[in-house]
Amino acid sequence: MRAVFVIALAALSLLAIYFISLSGERSEKSASETTAAAAPAQTEESGPSIGLIDDARIENAESEPGNWLAYGRTYEEQRFSPLTQVNKGNVAQLGLAWAKDMGTNRAQESTPIVVDGIMFLTSSWSRVFAIDAVTGETLWKYDPQVPGDTGRKACCDVVNRGVAVYKGRVYFGSLDGRLIALDAGTGELVWEVNTIIDPTRAYTVTGAPRAARGKIFIGNGGAEYGVRGYVTAYDAETGEQVWRFFTVPGDPSLPFEQPELEMAAKTWKGGNWWEIGGGGTVWNSIVYDPDFNHLYLGVGNGSPWTRAIRSPGGGDNLFLSSIVAVDADTGELQWHYQTTPGDNWDYTAVQDMALADMEVDGESRKVLLQAPKNGFFYVIDRSDGELLRAHPFAPVNWATHVDLETGRPVENPDLAYLEKEKWVLPGPLGAHNWQAMSVDVEAGLTFIPVQQSSFIFGMAEEFKKTGLFKRNPGRWNLGIEVGGVVQNFVNNLGTWPEPKGFLRAFDPLTGEIAWQVEIPHHWNGGVLATAGGLVFQGDALGMFKAYDKATGELLWEFNTYTSMLAPPISFEIDGVQYVSILTGTGGGDFFTGAPLPPFPNPASLDYNNFGRLLVFKLGGTEKLEVPKARDMEIPEQEMASLSDPEIARGEIAYHDYCAACHGMAVRSGGVIPDLRQMTPEMHAMFNGVVLEGILAPKGMSSFSDVLTEEDMVFLHEYVRARAHQDREVALGNQEQPRWTWLDSIR
Ligand code: CA
Repeated sequence: MRAVFVIALAALSLLAIYFISLSGERSEKSASETTAAAAPAQTEESGPSIGLIDDARIENAESEPGNWLAYGRTYEEQRFSPLTQVNKGNVAQLGLAWAKDMGTNRAQESTPIVVDGIMFLTSSWSRVFAIDAVTGETLWKYDPQVPGDTGRKACCDVVNRGVAVYKGRVYFGSLDGRLIALDAGTGELVWEVNTIIDPTRAYTVTGAPRAARGKIFIGNGGAEYGVRGYVTAYDAETGEQVWRFFTVPGDPSLPFEQPELEMAAKTWKGGNWWEIGGGGTVWNSIVYDPDFNHLYLGVGNGSPWTRAIRSPGGGDNLFLSSIVAVDADTGELQWHYQTTPGDNWDYTAVQDMALADMEVDGESRKVLLQAPKNGFFYVIDRSDGELLRAHPFAPVNWATHVDLETGRPVENPDLAYLEKEKWVLPGPLGAHNWQAMSVDVEAGLTFIPVQQSSFIFGMAEEFKKTGLFKRNPGRWNLGIEVGGVVQNFVNNLGTWPEPKGFLRAFDPLTGEIAWQVEIPHHWNGGVLATAGGLVFQGDALGMFKAYDKATGELLWEFNTYTSMLAPPISFEIDGVQYVSILTGTGGGDFFTGAPLPPFPNPASLDYNNFGRLLVFKLGGTEKLEVPKARDMEIPEQEMASLSDPEIARGEIAYHDYCAACHGMAVRSGGVIPDLRQMTPEMHAMFNGVVLEGILAPKGMSSFSDVLTEEDMVFLHEYVRARAHQDREVALGNQEQPRWTWLDSIR
């Protein structure tokens, strides 16, 4: 640690450091005055870079196009880089400057903060890095030592989307729910607080905290497991709690924690949502708006997903699937807009929100832009929450349109799935998920990683028979049938809307698509647009690409051999513009697993899920080694002789407990081990792993709280049966797998 510390000091002392008054007031200085105010020379004794970034500096981020000071570059979070050195004319010469192995094969989702030559970013398991942005050298790193068995509480991988850098400190949330403050110069711990109100519930933190007004804001995830959402503001200096905003009402027999919940509670009717959790987690987007001192919270889906269970008497279930504006100082509600009243489909509104000043119907408006999961693109006046536009940006079948008079979507009654299962578009991965979009205000366009990804919604057998639903700790609590998803899928394959991805240039005011690029896999990376006329995106097939921002024409591509989710960023140091991206997929798409033929495999399945940080510049000459193709062979299976109904029992258990990571129908997507490839030695250890937790330190927890030894007999046999069938198909002995055994019991 000592050596790292000295290296960090040496590197930092060479940098020009700006110093701005730490006053809580908005800066009255012009941008040029602010950046001209150079700091006194730093010495080793005084420590590096304290006061690096504060409110005024982030508010004036446009005057520092070479830095990336906040999550979406500026408080407006448009993810549009004003840099032009790399442009349409020369992007063909873009090459790899350096690559860094981040020591992981799990998903990387982080947006780095780049300030004065240093990148601050997170990787899997909430590890934090400070890296010299020119050389790739690690200046310091911090591992919060998240316990391995926390992985089981995370619906969507052991990911982290980044840090906030503020007043000389680096803030981040750990997967196990801590908010941690580090010294930005040394990486040493300053303070940490537990943000989780109930350790018996499966809360996790994966989102980047935001910093403003002397406070750090952080939410959490866990709605699928049954939690109640909230956001907390902490004092940046001390870590003391300043305010907390619950997004859904709690136990009605207890007092409301905040006055707004009285109004919200009237929109929840019947049911026992507070026992299940209620949901409404704010796991990704929190945006600070200096124009109004608002904090916008992107609120997630209901828990459970099915509203007939959550709130059988109807009601909108505030503030699920809403954009909520609160006062940044007090947490008091200012306005809210609910994208999906009475959410029934996991339609989070947690997707990145961008702020902009735009002319709408001849009037200059301060707007908030969001393309949430439900497929409609919302343009909202951020002074008062008035809905201005809500055009669909992707195929949608759950609603016909949004009525601008009422502000409400008009639902398609044919999609009710209580009686009969239905394909719903978008599915729970959304028409757009957390993978960031980019906004070009001048062109009036947004560049969105769009997903055409459907899902078959149908109720669990138990609910169909009894009308009852019981919260089941230790697993997803959705209401819909997860255990029987393969059967539903196979029975309705003829009407399946095929999965695809698009990079779409979309005009949020007219609803027109200026151009689009089709990608033959739905789960692709975030987007960066630049003033150099380019749009950058990494895709599932491992290609990092630059398109002409005006036409969508492909101008440059680089094979990373790894699928990507993270958004690219751009920065400039000593007159050189860089473009960077983290590689490695995962996240919410584990359940889908390996694509069915004829859809192409993601690169991470064909090769490996290489967790790297790649940095490009014009004339860069570094090369990535071409990896060996992954061994896909399935070993011969020793089958027990169980009956079809017994294997069916294993199929249900597998999808209830294992598929969320290991993939539907035992087809892993390439990040988590594929259980079809287990060797005889691994089969011998199967119960030890699943029940005794012998791999818990590596993230594979024990499931002995939910699975018995008897269950394991059936589950294990189902895994073997699936492996055996796919082996037979691969050897040409069988035409196609049977897929499901549930028809033997239903
Ligand atoms: Ca969700």
